[in-house]
Amino acid sequence: MSLIKNNLDKINRQITDAAISCSRKASDIQLIAVSKRKSVEAIMDGIKSGATHFGENYIQEAMKKIDEIGKDNACWHFIGHLQSNKAKFAVQYFDYIHTIDSLKLAKELNKQAKKIQKIQKILLQVNIGKEASKSGTNNEDAIELVAQIKGLENISLQGLMCMPPYFSEPEEARIYFQQLVQIKEKIIEQNFDNVSMEHLSMGMSNDFQVAIEEGSTMVRVGTSIFGRRD
Ligand SMILES: *Cc1c(COP(=O)(O)O)cnc(C)c1O
Repeated sequence: MSLIKNNLDKINRQITDAAISCSRKASDIQLIAVSKRKSVEAIMDGIKSGATHFGENYIQEAMKKIDEIGKDNACWHFIGHLQSNKAKFAVQYFDYIHTIDSLKLAKELNKQAKKIQKIQKILLQVNIGKEASKSGTNNEDAIELVAQIKGLENISLQGLMCMPPYFSEPEEARIYFQQLVQIKEKIIEQNFDNVSMEHLSMGMSNDFQVAIEEGSTMVRVGTSIFGRRD
């Protein structure tokens, strides 16, 4: 059995245990295997071992790898910072884009999706820890941004994404996950047309169990599946 298969089985068991511990269904939590800076061979190993969703951070690197693997052989999530001038490629290659944080980017994605007659699924990234080093909209601006992008016909907002500050003790991330849930609830109260808050993309190798306890539907796990990145 490959190391990646071994790791995936372990993570899947941990996801199931975390779900059970808070009376959720494991099937409501999607594991996204984060394969940035990992080889095509590693991703193929992941696919053979049962992974179906992959996350990538860099457009050029991802395009090369997805061309080799085949777009239809997995569900692809873009989870890196996206520049507007790369929106065209993001729309061509990715099923979900998790990192929308401005009206400008949303409009560009809408324009590019329209050109290829696609409804692009997106999530809004919230900079929940207000960190200068991280992208994302401010907590306070999230609702306003949703109100502005809900009218864009070729994008479909599916929920929120966050990346809290790093803590060696995962419990410390809990309050940030709770804040993202609060923003989600405020958005739901607005009853916007064309806006779904089905997904919360939160939790990484270090803290996905806490994220699941707080309602995550998409956990993005890299290191614990593929090993450390160079
Ligand atoms: C790299 C990355 C991950 C995976 O992080 P690990 O700690 O390796 O599990 C998750 N989300 C985002 C946005 C990332 O950039």
